[in-house]
Amino acid sequence: GNRGPEKEIPFAKPGSLTRVFAVASGKGGVGKSSVTVNLAAAMASSGLKVGVVDADIYGHSVPRMLGVSERPTKVEDMIMPPVAHDIKVISVGMFKPPGNDPVVWRGPMLDRALHQFLADVYWGDLDVLLMDLPPGTGDIAISVAQRMPGAEILVVTTPQQAAAEVAERAGSIATQTHQQIAGVIENMAWLPCPHCDERIAVFGEGGGQAVADGLTRVLGTRVPLLGQVPIDLRLREGGDEGKPLVLTDPDSPAAAELRRIADGL
Ligand code: ADP
Repeated sequence: GNRGPEKEIPFAKPGSLTRVFAVASGKGGVGKSSVTVNLAAAMASSGLKVGVVDADIYGHSVPRMLGVSERPTKVEDMIMPPVAHDIKVISVGMFKPPGNDPVVWRGPMLDRALHQFLADVYWGDLDVLLMDLPPGTGDIAISVAQRMPGAEILVVTTPQQAAAEVAERAGSIATQTHQQIAGVIENMAWLPCPHCDERIAVFGEGGGQAVADGLTRVLGTRVPLLGQVPIDLRLREGGDEGKPLVLTDPDSPAAAELRRIADGL
């Protein structure tokens, strides 16, 4: 049917003051969503106006990690996003038609959902919009690039070489889409030994730097390694309880590193 002209995406307008970050990873389980919500919480707690779009069709774990159980409400033709820890949150999981899992959504449907998240949601004036992308180099990354060419990519990887290779591939689509890569974040970088000062390299070493170097080569501009976030049991617990670690235990090494990364963006 005829849907009429598409609504404009406020963040894609020339002169938009909102910085948009698309958080990407090569594979699932590397902590992309955990990093996204903690960066968002760190930014919001320092006074920035922050929104998060959870576009990870496989995980859509952002609402749980931020303690959001409400659904968006509709006011006239706008969708009002739930707010938690001063962050406006919209998730692909909130729009799941009954019996229809977004995992099976195809490119055009994902693209339409993405447009809706960006254009039909009342975001207000945001300083920062963080988008949690599905892992890999899928349709949604292309949609984000087309709809918001100004979005900067943040690549999350673990130190593992195999993870680093797929993360580099996910980041390198930026060469085709001419997007900026803000940098690489190595998560689960090490486990602090509970009995001594040593760092246990549970997932190996060097993956974050390898991705940053690889992307620097491919893109021809320097892509920095922004930080290395250690493994911290409380980070996982905070995610399960809807309370980001940067807020509950800001002095822990993982939280301090996430806040340092957020401040530097
Ligand atoms: P992704 O979004 O990449 O699939 P998640 O953010 O869902 O990954 O993280 C996967 C699991 O690992 C979650 O249970 C999360 O709490 C946990 N996790 C992520 N980063 C860390 C960390 N630095 N220390 C401890 N647990 C972590």
